[in-house]
Amino acid sequence: MATSRTIHEALRWASSFLEERKLETMAGEWLLRHHLGVERAGLFARFQDEIPVTLFEAFQQDVYMLAKGYPVQHLIGHEEFFGRPFKVSGDVLIPRPETEELIIAVLERRKVLFGHAELEAVDVGTGSGIIATTLSLEDKWLRLSASDLSEKALEMAKQNATEHQADITFYQGDLLEPFIQMGKQFDIIVSNPPYIPESDRESLAIHVREHEPELALFAGRDGLDCYRKLTHQLKQVVKPRALVAFEVGAGQGEAVRKMLQEAFPNTDTEVRLDINKKDRIVLAYGNFVEEL
Ligand code: GLN
Repeated sequence: MATSRTIHEALRWASSFLEERKLETMAGEWLLRHHLGVERAGLFARFQDEIPVTLFEAFQQDVYMLAKGYPVQHLIGHEEFFGRPFKVSGDVLIPRPETEELIIAVLERRKVLFGHAELEAVDVGTGSGIIATTLSLEDKWLRLSASDLSEKALEMAKQNATEHQADITFYQGDLLEPFIQMGKQFDIIVSNPPYIPESDRESLAIHVREHEPELALFAGRDGLDCYRKLTHQLKQVVKPRALVAFEVGAGQGEAVRKMLQEAFPNTDTEVRLDINKKDRIVLAYGNFVEEL
C-alpha cells in the first residue's frame, strides 16, 4: 500500500532514481509539473503539499518509462519551441533549441535582403511544423508552405499549425519535389533536414535511436544526402533573388556552404555557429541566377 508523499518528497525520489541511472534529473520535475498541471513557480510554492496517491503512482510509472529510454517529451506530449508549445509524437523529430537559431537567422536576413516585402517561404521537411509555424507567426509578411515525406508528420504539423492559428499550406512529398511538380518558386527556402551519418547510429542516445523516426534522423553515409538533393532541386524552385537557410550538423558547415556556393556562384554564403560554437546554420543569399 503506497503512502502519500509531498511534492518535495516526490521530486527527491525521482531525482535520485534518475541520477542513479545517469539520466537527466530535470525530466523528473517536468513530469511532475505535467501531472500536477502547474508551472515551475507553482510547484515550488506547494513544496510541502501532499500529492494524491494515484497521481504519485502515475508519475512514478512515467519516471520508470524515462529509465526505459522514452523521451520525456513523448510522455508529456509536447515540447517548447520559440516560446510556444508544440505537440510531438514518435512520428516527428522532437524540436531542438539549436533550431531556434535558424529562425533568428532567417528573420534577421529577410529584413536585410527584402525589408518588409511580402514573400513566399517554404519549410522543407517540416516534421512537427515548428519552423513553418514559428516563421508564420513571427513574420506576418511571410506566406508559408511546408512539405514532408511522412503523412503522419504532416498530420502532426497541421495540428500544430491549427493550434497556433498559423496559416500554412502543406504538401506531401520528397523535399522540394511537390513544388517542382507545381512550378512554384520561393523567396525563402528553409530546411532542417535529416543530417546524421548512418555510421553514427550506434553512438546516439537510446531515447533518440529508439524513439525518434529514422526518416527524420539519417541521411546517408556522410549525413549530407539531403543537402545534395536539396541543392540540386533548388535550381527549379528558387527565385532569382532569394534566401536559403539550412540547419546542419556539427562539422558539416563548410561542406554544405561549398555545395551551395558551387551551385550558385553569385550568391553570398556563410556558416554560422550555435551557442556551443559548433557550426549549425548555412546561409546562401542574394543572386541565384547563374550567369553574370
Ligand atoms: N523541420 C523539423 C524540425 O526542425 C524536422 C526536422 C527533421 O525531421 N529532421 O524539427
